[in-house]
Amino acid sequence: MCGIVGYIGEREAQNILVAELKRLEYRGYDSAGIVTLSDSATPTLLRTKGKVAALEELVGQHKTSDTVGIGHTRWATHGEPSKRNAHPHHVGEIYLVHNGIIENYQDLKTMLSGHEYEFKSDTDSEVLAALIDYLRRDSPDLLTAVTGALKMVVGAYGIAVLDTTNPEEIIVARQGSPLIIGVGDGETYIASDASALVGYTNQVVYLHDGEIGRCTRSGLELQTIESQKLDVKIEMLDMDMQAIQKQGFDHFLAKEIYEQPTSLAATLAGRVLPDQKYARLGGLNMSDDELRHVKHIIIVGCGTAYFAGVQASYFIEQLTDDVTISVEIASELRYRAFNVPEHSVAMIVSQSGETADTLACLNELKRRGVKCLGVVNAVGSTIARAVDGGVYLHVGAEISVASTKAFTSQVAALTIFGIMLANAKGTNPQFIDEFVQELAILPSEIQKVLDKQGAEIPSIARAYADYNHALYIGRDTLYPIAMEGALKLKEVSYIHAEAYAAGELKHGPIALIDDHFFEVCYIQDNWLYEKSQSNLIEMNTRGAHAIVITDTTKKVPGETVIRISTKLSHLTPLLFNVVSQLLAYHVAVKRGHDVDQPRNLAKSVTVE
Ligand code: GLU
Repeated sequence: MCGIVGYIGEREAQNILVAELKRLEYRGYDSAGIVTLSDSATPTLLRTKGKVAALEELVGQHKTSDTVGIGHTRWATHGEPSKRNAHPHHVGEIYLVHNGIIENYQDLKTMLSGHEYEFKSDTDSEVLAALIDYLRRDSPDLLTAVTGALKMVVGAYGIAVLDTTNPEEIIVARQGSPLIIGVGDGETYIASDASALVGYTNQVVYLHDGEIGRCTRSGLELQTIESQKLDVKIEMLDMDMQAIQKQGFDHFLAKEIYEQPTSLAATLAGRVLPDQKYARLGGLNMSDDELRHVKHIIIVGCGTAYFAGVQASYFIEQLTDDVTISVEIASELRYRAFNVPEHSVAMIVSQSGETADTLACLNELKRRGVKCLGVVNAVGSTIARAVDGGVYLHVGAEISVASTKAFTSQVAALTIFGIMLANAKGTNPQFIDEFVQELAILPSEIQKVLDKQGAEIPSIARAYADYNHALYIGRDTLYPIAMEGALKLKEVSYIHAEAYAAGELKHGPIALIDDHFFEVCYIQDNWLYEKSQSNLIEMNTRGAHAIVITDTTKKVPGETVIRISTKLSHLTPLLFNVVSQLLAYHVAVKRGHDVDQPRNLAKSVTVE
């Protein structure tokens, strides 16, 4: 789930591996390690618990000029975060780094224990290293041993493997966990995330599931697990240095919140056509006739992507009149005995395009013959390649673990899909035009919020940073915003935050309100204004500490009132969401947290 790096070339591998691992820091991890080798000396294995900075210090004390190596940042699944469990794992002649989970590791461990293997860690990964070492004894080369081992393994992996007796190659393989090979001049790089390769090479090969590669100084040879040779398809890496730097902000989270006017504009470019009162997505591979026949949409996602789906479902419902929508949490849907109504289309939403649960749903939906469209940010990612059509968000690398700019663009892209459906079905052209015009000005409206509320929120955040609990409430299109707002707060501030549909307050959660809570109430000046205000008053009567986020100019009875002014109406919730993002960010900073790498979290959840 976290990071793999590797290098084979002419330069000192340690520096490159550490620099690459630093690029992957944002993904969240608990330990890090590298091993390097050369022809003459014994391998140098360096591992630490904690940050890459600690590993870097260790490397400073054990410098080598080795030109081959592999490295890892671990997000522990099997065994506590510790030096002993950190990768690379060493067994016999084998060093291995692994992302993912080996599900049958206990059986394999029992089998290998019978062949005198002893285990130094609690990880599933060390068992795979031992299995490869065991098979290597009777194999002509490492590639054959790795291939044999992977045939015995059940689970998900991205791996890089070194054999101490042959420092001329690194064997890599993937099944459910991303790996990218960077091809340079006389050197080859390995990374689980494109950001690690930026600046080293822009020639990359994306490994597919079931592929095994042999990396040497002269490049990459590829084959399937059945040992069938494959052509190596080199692609251009679509990422630059700017995308992976903070550009003057203290944190990536702040940079990405403030980037939204431009990142959203990139999502909308060429797609939203206000003069033509229309919006379209190019890569769906669906004719108007096919769109006309859609009767049901299944939107699938996890975390923020799921909430983006819920948010968009409200908009798509408003735009269409004969389409039903179900928004599904991927980790639930994948194991449910769900029925797919006739004329369904699925929207698969994932920033990274690697989310394991979402990918599993995609595979299941495809198996059932459902047309699957991706709403993905990472170009070339597994989901982007597996879908029948789809849309790239083009928001650039999202480095902060807590997703912000991706959410806004996911909602926008899904809404455009709603516009296309409505247009094909001939429903309510006036309504379509209103959404199109609002989408067109959404980036500048977000900019206004960033300018005004960006200055206002830090002092508000200071006033509420010491609370232990928060209740977020909203009605209708503001309910998903409440859910996403609460998620953002808990992710980065670790304050317990719950979200409820405002109408649900009386059915339970209002019992919670006391002086340990603050409440965030989203109130839009629309047909539900009075009802939302009643909910606020009911809470105030019970001693609430309410922060009201609103677009009204009327008097509002909140302890703190954050007013935005906007020309929007349908899409105003997305502006309120930017306020929630700023609030979560500043509360977390005030509490002294590592906002870009919140505890226990990792970006891109490639394991179940
Ligand atoms: N399952 C392995 C472990 O716990 C790999 C975890 C990861 O993906 O970082 O060490």
